[in-house]
Amino acid sequence: MSCAFELTHYRELVQAAGAGGYRFASFEEPAGPGDLLLRHDVDLSLEAALRMAELEAEEGASATYFLMTESVFYNLASTEGVAAIARLRELGHRVGLHAVHPRVVLDERFDPVVAWHNPEPAYMTEPIDGAVNVMQKGYFDPVTYRSDSNQRWRSGCPHEELRAGAFPWLQLLTHPEIWAYPGSTMGQTMRAMLDFERERRLAQLAEDRIDLT
Ligand SMILES: [Zn+2]
Ligand SMILES: [Zn+2]
Repeated sequence: MSCAFELTHYRELVQAAGAGGYRFASFEEPAGPGDLLLRHDVDLSLEAALRMAELEAEEGASATYFLMTESVFYNLASTEGVAAIARLRELGHRVGLHAVHPRVVLDERFDPVVAWHNPEPAYMTEPIDGAVNVMQKGYFDPVTYRSDSNQRWRSGCPHEELRAGAFPWLQLLTHPEIWAYPGSTMGQTMRAMLDFERERRLAQLAEDRIDLT
């Protein structure tokens, strides 16, 4: 098995978790034995989030997608954004807020759960009024946490340990863009995403009756 940052391996990770006996849990209550908290911070692409969400649903898994209201890369208020949230819900996933500190505006689109975007250590694990902070005590512990930041696992890809049931519980943070677009480095993956975006933007321009001749 190759630990590539590709959806085929993400599927293997989800299957490994199932084989290891983990339960796909949400951030509604603190993590307990056997819980796997699938967390996705959606920084760049709703399209990538939806691809991952469909795959998880096929595998009988559910996750929490943290979406931004202040992203420069996507607009949650657009028809595309509204449809993305509806589809995530339809597939059985949760939707939390990927917030930019210190603003937390939880409207009806979001469950009361927050993941800070690029947090500073000073407030990273601090509780938040009226919402769960995914990095607060009970949901986060460095030994039961893995993240794919910049296409690098700090403590290795967790598929073996998941399959073996080696974690008492786990919060697994993955960024859909890293898995949905090809590339063996973050730079390659981002360029692949931009190539895809270019085509998507051209289609949007045509739809908006822009003359592209
Ligand atoms: Zn792996
Ligand atoms: Zn982020």
